[in-house]
Amino acid sequence: MANYNPKSLKAEEFINDGEILQTLAWAEENKNNVALIDEILEKARPRKTEKGWHCAGLTHREASLLLACDIPEKIEQIYKIAEEIKLAFYGNRIVIFAPLYLSNYCVNGCVYCPYHLKNKEIPRKKLTQEEVRREVIALQDMGHKRLAIEAGEDPVNNPIEYILECIKTIYSVHHKNGDIRRVNVNIAATTVENYRKLRDAGIGTYILFQETYHKESYEKLHPTGPKHDYAYHTEAMDRAMEGGIDDVGLGVLFGLELYKYEFAGLIMHAEHLEAVHGVGPHTISVPRLKRASDIDPDQFDNGIDDDTFAKITACIRLAVPYTGIIISTRESEQVRGRLLRLGVSQVSGGSRTSVGGYAEEERPHDTEQFDVSDQRSLDEVVRWLMENGHIPSFCTACYREGRTGDRFMSLCKTGQIANCCHPNALMTLTEYLVDYGGEETKKVGFEMVERELEKVPNLKARGIAAQNVEDIKNSNRRDFRF
Ligand code: SAM
Repeated sequence: MANYNPKSLKAEEFINDGEILQTLAWAEENKNNVALIDEILEKARPRKTEKGWHCAGLTHREASLLLACDIPEKIEQIYKIAEEIKLAFYGNRIVIFAPLYLSNYCVNGCVYCPYHLKNKEIPRKKLTQEEVRREVIALQDMGHKRLAIEAGEDPVNNPIEYILECIKTIYSVHHKNGDIRRVNVNIAATTVENYRKLRDAGIGTYILFQETYHKESYEKLHPTGPKHDYAYHTEAMDRAMEGGIDDVGLGVLFGLELYKYEFAGLIMHAEHLEAVHGVGPHTISVPRLKRASDIDPDQFDNGIDDDTFAKITACIRLAVPYTGIIISTRESEQVRGRLLRLGVSQVSGGSRTSVGGYAEEERPHDTEQFDVSDQRSLDEVVRWLMENGHIPSFCTACYREGRTGDRFMSLCKTGQIANCCHPNALMTLTEYLVDYGGEETKKVGFEMVERELEKVPNLKARGIAAQNVEDIKNSNRRDFRF
């Protein structure tokens, strides 16, 4: 474990290559050690305590061992525990969001991304504030309340002032009954000062994908531009937290490097955040590399199949039990449906990955970032979720109540989520159904809301929620939330 130190603020010490390699070797040696695997599975299982659910989580070594194990019976157990943990902490709720692409100008040379500087195939576009407004109206008309804004890295075209202006515009649009209540931000690594500005602008989660934790590969995959600097990129979450952003979202772009290496790095990153800041990642995203303009995923050797992808997702759930796991429309309906049973808690719906794509009728668009596999409308996704027993949640209450960082985690850990998040999900779902739901969606949805209200354990909370649901149906709106 030379130089490995989760408390260090230096990338190469908290994501230590030597420790990852030792972890992978140890996992390989022990992958048939059933007694050890059973012990780890036992540790991962959720336990009901007087204060609510408790989950120990797993170390990067333990989780890597589960990922290495290929005994079918054990894999089934991993899947089962992943689902149990998801249900214990998040119930059957699934948070819904959409990405909003602001600008595809980019000065980096990322070899897997169509925004790379040398790609002359895509037209470059940056939304004006009027266009941002139009996009937000289109998103509100679909029913969205939570966005993740996306932009390439370009200090001239997309400086922090531009991003801040867009956030202000997004929060200012109130079209019919619509509003965007949480703006998450996925922009390039930046300075503490800029993170402070983003915090002051009222962002939700700051999301930054590591792409790969393997330093050498990272440098090859990002040959030019500011993103080339591995340490600056890897230490971004520490700067974000120093700048006062409580909720940060990690992610790896699967397909770039060997998945076992990435997985160990990802869990170590989560351990590092917990060790230094006392709170782990608010979310973890699991994107897979996709075909895009000037990008052929077959040129990369490390693509993973659906089974491996499912196992990775389930192992993340066991290792980091309180985190939100996000799956985007990069994945098909079928893959998304499967992962929803293995720990995923947030999905995007009705997404457009082009700059200005929501206000345009037709697709595909020439500025699309990558191929979207799940092309269903938000209403179709909402109905599909409900038909499969999940409650689509448009809730953003935690963020607006100041329940971020460790305060959100303690809500999770004390089990108050059932009296708080469950009614909030049902009230926001009702808002969606009344304002935007198709006829069939309304039918399925109102039945679900009625059934699910009965499950709110605290009778007082249940009564208030039921009254609020009635009020929403009768167009008597207030800012409902627990
Ligand atoms: N520019 C920001 C940065 O550097 O982190 C983030 C914005 S970028 C629009 C969001 C993410 O898209 C990237 O972090 C990358 O993981 C992902 N991405 C890039 N090319 C992709 C591709 N071909 N397929 C799937 N995802 C891709």
